[in-house]
Amino acid sequence: MKFNLVENAKDSLDHAIENIIDTSRPRDGCLKRVIQSLSHAVELVLKERLVREHPAFVYTKVDQYPTNDALTVTTDLAVQRLERLVGLTLERDDKKTIESSRKKRNVIEHFEFEIPTKEAEVIIGRLLSFIIRFSKEHLDLDWQSELLTNPCWPELKKYSDFWDVHSQKVIDRLYDLDFDECPICLLGSFDIEELQCQLCGHKDAYIDCIGLCKEEFLESLGEEIGNYELCPSCVRADAAAFNHEKY
Ligand SMILES: [Zn+2]
Ligand SMILES: [Zn+2]
Repeated sequence: MKFNLVENAKDSLDHAIENIIDTSRPRDGCLKRVIQSLSHAVELVLKERLVREHPAFVYTKVDQYPTNDALTVTTDLAVQRLERLVGLTLERDDKKTIESSRKKRNVIEHFEFEIPTKEAEVIIGRLLSFIIRFSKEHLDLDWQSELLTNPCWPELKKYSDFWDVHSQKVIDRLYDLDFDECPICLLGSFDIEELQCQLCGHKDAYIDCIGLCKEEFLESLGEEIGNYELCPSCVRADAAAFNHEKY
């Protein structure tokens, strides 16, 4: 069995699509596999872009290139290198999509989990839309045309459209004090009174950061450190300090 990065990513995308349109099996299992496969594809397309810049960039420690068993980058580090070393600019929403795909895949693979169907569909739409755009813009791969000729395209399009269609409608709410950005939709649709997103139904809670900032943040955005949680900016500060020591 031999797959290069692009073939491997494409295989994961195909696998996701088979599961999206498969109505013969329980829906929850299919959605779980779709999120896993799409997250896998995201990781691989990011790595492919690094490899095209230089094959060593895909290794956590670049000087271990060309050892085949050396550790390869996490998606976080891949994004960081794409921006700092390759000079690519990823939009804030795309970075959030990559981040949430990593988290969802992690809980699916290592913990008990519950993802409401609507949330799962929003995440799938964001991941699909990202993979198709990124592979076209940065890897010159036209996976979209192939999808367009897929007889199941209308079904697939429902997922990738959700995001685009709704983003304009609720974007104004970002300026409304009673609403916050939903960690799932990334739109200003999270009702801070009801603690629920009015668009995808995502429920969340505000907790206090135990890091330096001590500020309130939405629980699902944090990173668990033992029994405590750090807010995203303290996690980033922490990671930056850690990386700094290492190099
Ligand atoms: Zn939402
Ligand atoms: Zn903090």
